[in-house]
Amino acid sequence: MARFRSRLTLIFVLLIGVSVLAAGIYMASSFKSNHISQLEQNMSREIMLIEQTLQWRNEPTSASAMAFYTDWSKKLQDTTGARVTFVTLDGTVVGDSISEVSQMDNHLDREEIKSARESGLGSVIRYSDTIKQNMLYVAAPIHDSKFEGYVRLAMSLQEVEQSVRELWAYLGMGLLVLFLVATLVSYRIAYNLTRPIENMTRVAHQIAHMDYKARAQTTGTDEIGQLGYAINAMADSLQLQMAQIRENEGRLRTVMEHMINAIVMIDDQGEIVLINRKAEQMLGIKNKASLGKKFEEVRVPYELAEMTQEVIERKLLVHDELTIYYPEERLLDVNVVPVYYSEQEWAGVLIMLQDVSDIRRLERMRSEFVANVSHELKTPIAAVKGFAETLMNGALNDPEIAQSFLQIIHDESERLNRLIGDILELSKIESKRVPLQFSPVHMPSFMQQAVEMLSKEADKKHIQVSLQVDEDMYIEADEDRLRQIVLNLLSNAINYTSDGGQAKVVAAPLDVNEDGDYERIQLTISDTGIGIPKKDLPRIFERFYRVDKARSRGSGGTGLGLSIVKHLVDSHHGTIKVESEIGVGTTFTIELPVLQDHHTDIR
Ligand code: ADP
Repeated sequence: MARFRSRLTLIFVLLIGVSVLAAGIYMASSFKSNHISQLEQNMSREIMLIEQTLQWRNEPTSASAMAFYTDWSKKLQDTTGARVTFVTLDGTVVGDSISEVSQMDNHLDREEIKSARESGLGSVIRYSDTIKQNMLYVAAPIHDSKFEGYVRLAMSLQEVEQSVRELWAYLGMGLLVLFLVATLVSYRIAYNLTRPIENMTRVAHQIAHMDYKARAQTTGTDEIGQLGYAINAMADSLQLQMAQIRENEGRLRTVMEHMINAIVMIDDQGEIVLINRKAEQMLGIKNKASLGKKFEEVRVPYELAEMTQEVIERKLLVHDELTIYYPEERLLDVNVVPVYYSEQEWAGVLIMLQDVSDIRRLERMRSEFVANVSHELKTPIAAVKGFAETLMNGALNDPEIAQSFLQIIHDESERLNRLIGDILELSKIESKRVPLQFSPVHMPSFMQQAVEMLSKEADKKHIQVSLQVDEDMYIEADEDRLRQIVLNLLSNAINYTSDGGQAKVVAAPLDVNEDGDYERIQLTISDTGIGIPKKDLPRIFERFYRVDKARSRGSGGTGLGLSIVKHLVDSHHGTIKVESEIGVGTTFTIELPVLQDHHTDIR
C-alpha cells in the first residue's frame, strides 16, 4: 500500500511538475517573442524615421557619398543604439556604423534584404560573425529620388536573452518551491486517499486469517466508505456462519465422542477424515496419528482393511461379524457403507463398528445356563422318578425299603425345590425386577439374629460360631438381601467345615478418620474348613460352579449361592474377595458403603 501511496504521490508531482514546466516554457518563449516583436516594431519605426528625415545623397557609391552614409550610420547608431547599414539596390554596402564598407561583401542575398525587397520589411535573427552575438536584423527598402536601396538596423539580442535567462532563474526557483509544496500536498492527499484502503486491506487480511472480529473503519458514503460497509457486512456474515459451523461441529463432535459405536470415515482419496474415541479404543489407534493418513497405512485388522477395500472398489455395503485380537479380543459387528455427497459424487466410506462381544457372551451364557439348569434338574428328577418306579414295582410292600426310598424322594424333591428357588432368586436379582429397599440396619442385632438362624446347623456339626461387631454400627442396606448374603456365606462356612471346626463373623468400620467417622465397613466371614483350591478361586462366583460336585451335593448345595451373593454385593455397591487355603480355611471379605448413592441405583 505504501507503494501505491508513493506511486500516487509521484503521479501528482509529475503532473504538477510537467504542467508547471510547460507553463514556464510557454511563458519564457512568449516573453521572448513579445520582446523581439516589440524590438522589431521599434526598429522598423526608426527605419521609417531615418527615411523621412535623412538628407539623401545622389550616387551613393561615390566615395564622398559613402563617407556621408558611413558618417550618418555612426551618428544614427549613437541615437538608436543599433548598428545601421545603408545598402544600395544592387546590394553594395555604402555605409555601416561598425565595419569598414570597403571590406564588406555584397548584401543582396542577405535574408533580411531579400524579404525587405519582397514584402517591404525584412527581419531575421542570425548569429553575427562580426560581433559574435545573436543579432536581430530589420531591413526596409528606401525609395527616395536620390537613393534607392535599403536601410538595415541590427540590434544585439544579448539583452533579450539576458532577461529571458533571468526570467528562467526566477521561474526555476518558483518551480522548485511549487514542486516542494506540490510534493507535500500530493503526499497528504495520497495519504488521505490510501489510508482507508490500507485499513480495509488490513481488515481483509485479518478476516482471511480467520479473525472474524476485525472490522473496517467506515467513514463517509463515497465508494471507499461503501467498500468498508461491504467488508464489515461480509465479516458479520462470516462470523455468523463460522459460529453456526462451530456449533454444528461441536454438536457432531459431542455426538461422535459419546457414541457407543465406533465410527471411521474415509474420504474419496482414501484418507481418514473422521474417527471417534470409541473407534480408537476398539482398533487401538491414535487420533492424532491416524487423522489425515491413508487408511491402508494405519494398523487395522486385515479383514477390516479388506472389507473397506471391497466397498471402495464395488461401492456396495458390506456387513459382517469380525473377531479382532488387538488391543483385546472382541467380536465386532461391522458395517462398511459407501457414502455419496450427491447421487453420483462419491464421498468415501463410512465404517461403523459395534462391539457385540458382551451380547454374544450373554447369549452364550444364557444358553449355557439353560443347559446347566436342565442338567441340574435332570439328576433329582431322575432320582425321584427312579425311586417312585421301584416303589410302584413292588418295593412298596417292604415297609423298610419303602420308608428309605420315600425319604430319598423327599430329600431329592427338597433339593429340587431349593434349586428352583435359587434359580428364581438369581433371575430376579439379575433382571433387577425387584428394586432394593434401602433402610438403616443396626448391625449388632442384625448379625446376632443371622448367626442364631444357623445355630442349629452349627450345633449339629459342633462348629463354634463367633461374632464380633462394633456397638452402634449402622449401615444403609436392604435388610433381607443383606441377610441373604450373610446366611449364604455363613452356611457355606458351616457346610464346608468339618465337625468341631470354627466359623467367625466380623463386622468393622473401614478407614476411620480422626472424628471417628467412616464411610465403609468390612464384613469378614471365615472358617477353619476344607478350603478351596487356588485354581477354582477365580470361578467360584460363577453360576453352578462347584469345586467338587460330590462334596457340594453332599452338603445339599446348588452351586448358585455365591453367584447370588456376588450379585447382591454388587447391587449394594460393594466388593467381595475370597482367600482360601486347602485344609486351613476360607475367608470371604466384603466391603460395603455405609450410605447408598440413590442416584446410581437405577441401573
Ligand atoms: P453351593 O450351593 O454348592 O455351596 P456356592 O455357590 O455357595 O454353591 O459355592 C460354590 C462352591 O464353592 C461350592 O461348591 C464349594 O465347593 C465352594 N465353597 C463355597 N464356600 C466355601 C467355604 N467356606 N469353604 C470351602 N469351599 C467353599
